[in-house]
Amino acid sequence: MTKCTICSSPNRAEIEAALVKGTPLRQIEAKYRRAKSSIDRHARQCVPQAIAKAAEAREIKLADVLLEEVEALHSTAKEILHEARMSKDGVLALKAIAQARRNIELAARLTGKLEPEQETRKGVQLEEFLAIYRRVVVQE
Ligand SMILES: [Zn+2]
Repeated sequence: MTKCTICSSPNRAEIEAALVKGTPLRQIEAKYRRAKSSIDRHARQCVPQAIAKAAEAREIKLADVLLEEVEALHSTAKEILHEARMSKDGVLALKAIAQARRNIELAARLTGKLEPEQETRKGVQLEEFLAIYRRVVVQE
């Protein structure tokens, strides 16, 4: 792969801004003294790659933020479960367990450990659920 002269150009941002505005390539070529073919290649190859990379990074960041939220909700659900068990409120305990289970499913989905297909057919894998049940409910 040849090195792109536009990517390493100090005027890269200005050139990209001109491309976004729809400035004709020959004008960009004249202003920044870069080959029209280089500008064209940069616009067709480098820019879409950079956009894809940025979108991926943003998705990863969003998943991390969402996971933190789910973890906070899960802590709350566990606290409520604990209180329900202390006060022997079976109905509330079951609701907290159901919420904890949904939180676990969501966290598994966000971390890519649960495929959408598996999720709709089986929910959380039985073994995983039993392990969580023992840890959260039975508190082994
Ligand atoms: Zn480039």
